Amino acid sequence: MTRSFESPAAYVQGRDVVDQLGDRLKPVADSALVLADADVLEIVGEQAETSLEGSDVDATLEEFGGESSEAEIDRLTEVARDADADAIVGAGGGKALDTAKAVREQAGGAMVSMPTIASTDAPTSSLSVIYSEDGEFERYWFYEEHPDLVLVDTSIIAGAPVRFFTSGIADAMATWFEADAVRRADGENFFDEDPTYAAHSLSRLCYDLLRDHGVSSVQAIEKGIVTESVEAVTEANTLLSGLGFENGGIAAAHSVHNGLTQLEETHHATHGEKVNVGTITQLVLEGRSDAFVEDVIDFSIEVDLPVTLAEVGVEDPSHDDLDRVAQAAVADEETIHNAFDVSSDEVRDAMIAADELGSRRLS
Ligand SMILES: [Zn+2]
Repeated sequence: MTRSFESPAAYVQGRDVVDQLGDRLKPVADSALVLADADVLEIVGEQAETSLEGSDVDATLEEFGGESSEAEIDRLTEVARDADADAIVGAGGGKALDTAKAVREQAGGAMVSMPTIASTDAPTSSLSVIYSEDGEFERYWFYEEHPDLVLVDTSIIAGAPVRFFTSGIADAMATWFEADAVRRADGENFFDEDPTYAAHSLSRLCYDLLRDHGVSSVQAIEKGIVTESVEAVTEANTLLSGLGFENGGIAAAHSVHNGLTQLEETHHATHGEKVNVGTITQLVLEGRSDAFVEDVIDFSIEVDLPVTLAEVGVEDPSHDDLDRVAQAAVADEETIHNAFDVSSDEVRDAMIAADELGSRRLS
């Protein structure tokens, strides 16, 4: 079989790098549409506009509605066409970036990911997660092209609420366990091909950086400061997690996340928070030792990540609720099949066991 590795053309991370947006975009674009939700426009809109116009790139700013739904993507594609934009700049969290990728796919031109939080591995990938207008997971959309540039300003990342940063740690932690499970099961990456050694190794590096710098980076973000730990974990959450999941493949943790979105009460929990419950569930499914699972749970607790269903909003779930989640997690198109040959009953029971282990370490 063929193995493959794909990535964005460029990744730039550091303090105040938003100021470089215009210079870096000018060689490929004369006009850019910047998409961001209202709060993000307030934080970064003017700085982005100043940088673009300073480099003679016309800038149009447009507010993103908040959900990466088909309706919102179609609306913003019209805005991009009307503005004659030859570059789409997505600024914000995963949903804003995924929406910007979808708009670029339809309107054409270059694409820049400008994450303002290090909460997911969306910035580097060539896919969007499409949700219903009510926030339920619907499907993945895949594109031929990756973002042309990923621009990560760590002074902005450090100014955002710490919860986003810890959510990114959870999403990045899943990357290693999923890529490793896929490799052991001879599964496929997101391009339906074999993972490379590079993808496996980068996923491991991602996990090592999180364990080495996770706690101190979270402390720094709580103070709003940028340290080398913050740079290391931002790179893990954004670059390594992104390259790792797409090129290494994902497995059960994200399928359990997708299943959890079936329950309305989980919608206030972030992507990463739900993924973390999925990661612990996956470790139980793998039959890892108690000590191994407890070590991951204890690290999660140390960086304030949820380790129980109650912490992602599901208090005293009924048997029916957990069955619904587990059935969605093993739907035909789900990535769990990439590494596990399991029934929904096995997933449900693993969720209950993971929840029990998490509750015990919390008490
Ligand atoms: Zn994820």
